[in-house]
Amino acid sequence: MSILKIVDYRGGVLVMYRCLGILLDPSVYPSLGNRIEYYAFISHAHTDHSRGLSISSFRRYATYETIALCRARGQSVGGVYSLRYGDTVSLPYGVCVEVLNAGHILGSAMFRIETPEATILYTGDFNTVRSFTVESADKVECDIAIVESTYGSPSFILPPRGRVYMDLISWIVRCLHDGYTPVIQTDALGNSQELNIAINKLTNIRVYIHPRIARYNRVYGEYGCQLEYSVSRGEVSDGVYIVPKDVSPGNPRSRVGFASGWALRFSDDRYPIPFSDHADFKSIVEYVEEIKPRRVYTFHGGIYDRVLAKELRDRISVEASPLPDYIE
Ligand SMILES: [Zn+2]
Ligand SMILES: [Zn+2]
Repeated sequence: MSILKIVDYRGGVLVMYRCLGILLDPSVYPSLGNRIEYYAFISHAHTDHSRGLSISSFRRYATYETIALCRARGQSVGGVYSLRYGDTVSLPYGVCVEVLNAGHILGSAMFRIETPEATILYTGDFNTVRSFTVESADKVECDIAIVESTYGSPSFILPPRGRVYMDLISWIVRCLHDGYTPVIQTDALGNSQELNIAINKLTNIRVYIHPRIARYNRVYGEYGCQLEYSVSRGEVSDGVYIVPKDVSPGNPRSRVGFASGWALRFSDDRYPIPFSDHADFKSIVEYVEEIKPRRVYTFHGGIYDRVLAKELRDRISVEASPLPDYIE
């Protein structure tokens, strides 16, 4: 019988080997008996992954950048061990965890867990497209892959990044020419910085950002990603204004764009900018094919966990299913 267990404990992913519990992006402390010694690894600073950084009842690890980004939004991150890509953390029973680049946002990590029984790759959120702010995800072979399925359905194929940028720039120019301010609603962390730098590099149009984005821009700057921008609470008239998704433009002379992979599906009356820091469906399948796992668990995609698992079975004949729930 296997002494390795990989489950969704309803508070994150748990890789259990003997009495060692490796928690991946935990959001709550697991109550699975007190014989288990826990170590938590946080993949990146998006809030749906990084809550565990503030849970001090287990040993926590994250990259320097992830810690800095979480601190920038006021999260308590005391006592967290800092990691760099390429680091390896040695744990009991001969298990070790290697830190790899996930290509998603600044500091985003994948974790490759080597146990005497199998090597497991946890992708976290990942992207295989090289961007202005991060390199594309590392590719390493493994026995078992735990793969995110945010865009795990064949209907999510993003257009090439270059074309998205060209369309975006012509939309911005058109707005400004017509006397309107182009306002882009997007994720405050990740997409905002990528769009900021793309507009800097490809045009000389001024970029204004909302204060909630600025706190993250500063951390990108500290880690060598130079962005040019001004901070504004609104009333922008001579450039493009990037705001978090829930902020609506105060200025009536504005046109709104929506930058997200979800813009493929809907954007109501907003200008769609189909753009994401996640791998699209095609990239996920190609990635799994390249890392050659004998088993895949899908997670983090809601209904797409099942869809992606089926597509992987059909397209590349790999054993795949949604990550099972923990059962005592
Ligand atoms: Zn994320
Ligand atoms: Zn996520």
